Amino acid sequence: MQPVGRTPLPAILLSEAAQQLICSVFERSDLFRGLPAIRTRIVAWGPDAAPVALAHSAVVLSERELLVRLAPPEVCDQAGEPTRWTIHTSSPLPASVESLRFGGREASVVPVELKTGAEPEACWIESLERGWLFLITCGVGQGWLLAVGDDAEELVRASRLVAPQITHRGAAAGRFPATPRISTPLAGDGWLACGSAAMAFDPLCGDGTAHAVREAVLACAVIGAADEGEAVDRVVAHYQARLTAGFKRHLEHCLAYYRPGTQTSGGARNWTRSVREWRHAERR
Ligand SMILES: Cc1cc2nc3c(=O)[nH]c(=O)nc-3n(C[C@H](O)[C@H](O)[C@H](O)COP(=O)(O)OP(=O)(O)OC[C@H]3O[C@@H](n4cnc5c(N)ncnc54)[C@H](O)[C@@H]3O)c2cc1C
Repeated sequence: MQPVGRTPLPAILLSEAAQQLICSVFERSDLFRGLPAIRTRIVAWGPDAAPVALAHSAVVLSERELLVRLAPPEVCDQAGEPTRWTIHTSSPLPASVESLRFGGREASVVPVELKTGAEPEACWIESLERGWLFLITCGVGQGWLLAVGDDAEELVRASRLVAPQITHRGAAAGRFPATPRISTPLAGDGWLACGSAAMAFDPLCGDGTAHAVREAVLACAVIGAADEGEAVDRVVAHYQARLTAGFKRHLEHCLAYYRPGTQTSGGARNWTRSVREWRHAERR
């Protein structure tokens, strides 16, 4: 078991649905108690769009905090029924696996101080010519800024909605790939790719953590069915079909946002082309 290090995200948002899913899988209703809440989402998406305030229901926590809350030591040591299957949760994957990435955008995450009177328990999302900004409060006067596309400095300089909320920006806590990515194949005889080993999502349509949990539930069901005698190629095909369908939906969601909202037309064109190429490859 060789942990592969990637910089944990200092702040992720978990929607109410994601919290309920994770609590039911871990059979713990208190997992997200006491965390900063997000109750309002303020959005300015599209050239010269007027900001709109929408109700929202989520909590904010760091990935490190999430791992601590999810895995008290005794849980980790519980061994399941012996099986010949391997679930890959991170690289390395079998040599036959290829990784398809859609676009090359990166995200930087920056700690910020918010102006006095900034909307508490809120997040702000703003599209700009060369990317987008996502600001999350995580306590009184404190927040995290996610800058996707161009660097944070440039995006904040062009910002009309997010920049006025911020009084001070700290040093970036990390840069992360922020484009959809899928491994292919996603499974084979005796192995399944799951979570970030299988797919990565554009944080614009986030929910990556809940996706990883759903995939893990399906992976366990597939292994259980195979161990009970179901045809391996049928259950593997089912796993691939379900994950690929979810990934396609994610791409369509992103396209729906990226077309009107942001990026120079070149960026949107590259994006659309890579989706078309993938669909074509899928049909072959
Ligand atoms: C910029 C950005 C913002 C995001 N914002 C959000 C958000 O707001 N909300 C959200 O839900 N998601 C968000 N995501 C997505 C989210 O980070 C991922 O979807 C999620 O971390 C996937 O979880 P995972 O466990 O599959 O993979 P990872 O988080 O990558 O974790 C893999 C873990 O497995 C461990 N590991 C590796 N090999 C082994 C092994 N053999 N045995 C045991 N352990 C092993 C590694 O050490 C690592 O800790 C964001 C992603 C990015 C890039």
